[in-house]
Amino acid sequence: MTGAQAAERILRSQGIDYVRVGHVRGNLTDHYDPKNKVLNLSDTVYNSTSVSAIGVAAHECGHAVQDKVGYFLLNFRGSLVPAANFGAQLSWPLIIIGYLFGGAGGTLVKVGILMFCAVVLFHLVTLPVELDASRRALRLLDENGILVEDEVKKTRKVLGAAALTYVAALAASILQLLRLLILFGGQRRNDD
Ligand SMILES: [Zn+2]
Repeated sequence: MTGAQAAERILRSQGIDYVRVGHVRGNLTDHYDPKNKVLNLSDTVYNSTSVSAIGVAAHECGHAVQDKVGYFLLNFRGSLVPAANFGAQLSWPLIIIGYLFGGAGGTLVKVGILMFCAVVLFHLVTLPVELDASRRALRLLDENGILVEDEVKKTRKVLGAAALTYVAALAASILQLLRLLILFGGQRRNDD
């Protein structure tokens, strides 16, 4: 069974017949698009029959199930995307411009730091969403008899490793926020 076939089977088993399984280019580009109800699988997953490919496909199905049951954190994360993108792109330029302006730029620095908080919040919400999707994936693979017990164990390891990248992203964003606060948080006090 390929990743795409596993995804189809899992989705149907959950009564999700409105989600299309699509094929996207690239590696690690797999994602579920809740707006268009498309489950996109990458080259390395779509046609692959490996245990990890099926694990990734099932993980994306986990997101589709979250969407179906109205899992709060998935919707919350979705609503944070614009602010997080905005914050990731504009916080540093704002802070630097504000810093160059000196005392008068203090507000810009504060706005920039606040915008970066949206990035941290996004990563903070992403982590439980991803862990939940993987938990659902393992259950779905087991329930549908797609993987045998030994393979489920292997998949748990693969998905656990994938979750670590989200932990790393969260840790990196928190460290960056701390760096911003240390570098610029005390600026006004110094000026006074
Ligand atoms: Zn995910």
